[in-house]
Amino acid sequence: MLTAALGLGLAASLRTSPAAAVGTGTVTHKYAGSAEEAKANQAFFEAVVKSVAKKRAATPGATAVTVVYSTANAPSFRTQIARSAQIWNSSVANVRLVEGGNPDFAYYEGSDSRGSYASTDGHGSGYIFLDYQQNQQYNSTRVTAHETGHVLGLPDHYSGPCSELMSGGGPGTSCQNAQPNAQERSRVDQLWRYGLASAFKN
Ligand SMILES: [Zn+2]
Repeated sequence: MLTAALGLGLAASLRTSPAAAVGTGTVTHKYAGSAEEAKANQAFFEAVVKSVAKKRAATPGATAVTVVYSTANAPSFRTQIARSAQIWNSSVANVRLVEGGNPDFAYYEGSDSRGSYASTDGHGSGYIFLDYQQNQQYNSTRVTAHETGHVLGLPDHYSGPCSELMSGGGPGTSCQNAQPNAQERSRVDQLWRYGLASAFKN
């Protein structure tokens, strides 16, 4: 089971979300959401970790943790998704994002009043939904890299500055930063240290 690490992440999200929701006026088409969203983020991360763990059990010698994604259902965002993977892959050492078959999670695109989010399909599979309107309002690479941050186990932190990726829509539409800051990088490396061991135990 995913225990303390996720518990801490969830607690942090719950602390920051209600204030962010009130402050933004409208919560639609903003990736500055609610406690519900925080729960979905955690369920999503759990689904990704389970999927990766299943594959690792089949290849116990593997050292690097690889998380495989599909862009088949998000064709308009291929460039942003590739850029997000590149950003994360050059920012962290213990986990790697790779596009391929038999994916651990998938990107989807469409229009949704909730904006973009990470969630599960009810059958234990994780997906990231990218909303058209939100991706026009906000820097699309930032939105995609933010949602991909949930893949790697980071919770939302809407009250943070633009220099923080997981502050999402908090700093507003003018924020163009798509890079995680030093704390976000080290948190991800901590979660995925020693393969999946720490993602499960910490
Ligand atoms: Zn988020």
